[in-house]
Parts: sequence; structure tokens; C-alpha cells
Amino acid sequence: MIILLKKDAEPSQVENLLTLLRMKNITPSVSVGQMQTLIGCVGDVAHVDPGLIEALDVVESVQRIQEPYKAANRKFHPEPSVIACGGVKVGGGHFGVIAGPCSVESEEQVVAIARAVKAAGADMLRGGAFKPRTSPYAFQGLGKKGIEFLMTAKKETGLPVVTELMNFEVIDLFNDVDVIQIGARNMQNFDLLKEVGAHTKKPVLLKRGMSATLQELLMSAEYVMASGNPNVILCERGIRTYETAMRNTLDLAVVPMLHKLSHLPIIVDPSHATGYAHLVDPVSVAAAAIGADGLIIEVHNDPPHAKCDGAQSQTPEMFAATMKKVNAVRGLKL
Ligand code: PEP
Ligand code: MN
Repeated sequence: MIILLKKDAEPSQVENLLTLLRMKNITPSVSVGQMQTLIGCVGDVAHVDPGLIEALDVVESVQRIQEPYKAANRKFHPEPSVIACGGVKVGGGHFGVIAGPCSVESEEQVVAIARAVKAAGADMLRGGAFKPRTSPYAFQGLGKKGIEFLMTAKKETGLPVVTELMNFEVIDLFNDVDVIQIGARNMQNFDLLKEVGAHTKKPVLLKRGMSATLQELLMSAEYVMASGNPNVILCERGIRTYETAMRNTLDLAVVPMLHKLSHLPIIVDPSHATGYAHLVDPVSVAAAAIGADGLIIEVHNDPPHAKCDGAQSQTPEMFAATMKKVNAVRGLKL
């Protein structure tokens, strides 16, 4: 962090600022220039609020030179993280495909879809039991029953299970869940992030909030990691823009950008990013080509009658065709 002082800074004010910095365990070093005086700050500036320093009378501006995320930062962890998800690895060259329905609707439904996506080459099963729905009148998920049906599907197919946690009170139901999904709407539910960080080491699939910057996404990952759980997978699922032709706008360039900024794996959700089943195939291919560490795709055996997100759900046949193309692209070793 660099602090630029005002031209008319009084020596006593500067001295007060230096004392304040030292109290925060920062070692300040003052460089007096012809035009302006700078203070370089050495130490753990993560606990210093730059806004607070900038608000001081004596300060012209404050510039951060280090990102505020440490645990998630590629600078301090040059090797890509490989996250073990119930026997499946994601990241560092391991491509993980998660597929399944938006919501678990019945045991027959989730078992049938699990079998179909496994046959097509999926590595993990997704399915929401606790659903964050925009409308309180929409299907809210089967809750505990939904988790039980997912466990039956896991037993039948051997696929590790990914499902969303909205409230830490129900964590005991997640004992046999392999990956905890934190949805876009909860990306900044900091209490929930701290709890999945402190009380479990299960991998956390952290979806980007619909208006979140990459720094905000990484700071949310930081909450989980700083609380004690290093096993975070990031997920780009589209953001909200002025475009209305699709459900969201897929920000695909975040894949290489996040790889530059962080060592955490980044997977792409083409289903929520587009909202249309026919777009899932080309977007999945593009995500694989740009270097994503995996995909999470909604698949339903009867999309027109799905209780949630039918329009964006692929049929098992569509999913199988997409898997072939994704594998072909991955084989190109771009
Ligand atoms: C989901 O995966 O079904 C979901 C609700 O996703 P998101 O949080 O990205 O909207
Ligand atoms: Mn969905």
C-alpha cells in the first residue's frame, strides 16, 4: 500500500499518521520528493482499511499494490490447486463434469438421470434439494428427502454428489454429500461462508454472484479459506447485464483471468449462464477450449415437465453429444 500525502501536510500530522500505521503493525517508510511525499507500507495491510486512511486530512490518496486476498492469490501459491471431490479431482489439468437436474424431484427421477449422465461420462451428480427460488410460490425443493434421494443415486452409480447449502443449520444432512454448493445468491452470505470454512473441509463450489466482480468472488473464496477450508472451486455462471436475450451474460474471459489471479480451479455453468438448452452445447465447448477446469450442466429426463429450470436443461441425449464434443476439444491440448 502506498499513501500519497497532501502538499501542505504538517509534520505533526504526518507523525500522527506514522504512529497510527505502526500501531497496525505496518512499517512505514517515508520518501520525500520535490513535489510530493509518499509513505510505503510494509506488513500485513489486509487489516488496514484504505478508505479510513484516505479520509485523513493529511492524505491525498491511497493505492493498494497487493490484492486483498491472500489465501486465494496465485502469487503466494503458484501451483494450481487440485481439489479432491469424493474421488474425483478438479483443477490442475483435471477436468470435472458435474451433471444432473436443477432440483431433485423424486427418487426415480434423480436415479434415472444419474445413470444417464454417468453413462455419458459425467464425473459427479448435481441436484438441488434446498432451492433458492426467486418466487416464494415456486417449488422450493424436497429438502431432507431430496438429500436422501441423492444418496440413493450416489449408491446406485458411485457418482459423488454436489448439492446446494443455503442455511448452515441443516449441515448434518450433508454428511455424505461430497461437494457443498454455495449459490450465486449466497456468494456474499459471509456468515455462511465462515461456517463452511470453519466447520467442514468438504469442497465448496462457490458460484459467482450475479453482480459480483472477480475481486468480490475471490474475497468470498477468501472467507472460506481464511476460516480454515482451503478446498474451494470457483464457478462462473453468468452475470446480469443489459442483455435480455439470454438469462445471464456469460463472462467467459474470467476463466483465464481467474487462472492468472488465483490457483483455485474455475468451472463454467453454461445452463444458468444462458437459460436455453440449445446454447449449453456450444458454450460448453467454448468453456473447455478456453481452459475451464470443468462444467456443471443441468440435465433432465423430461425437461418440459421439470419443476425448475426446464428450458435450460439438456436431455440425456443432448448431454451425451456435448460430452463427446467437450472431450474432443480437450483432446486437442490447445
Ligand atoms: C443452481 O445451480 O441450480 C443455481 C440455483 O445456481 P445459481 O446459484 O448459479 O443461480
Ligand atoms: Mn437451476
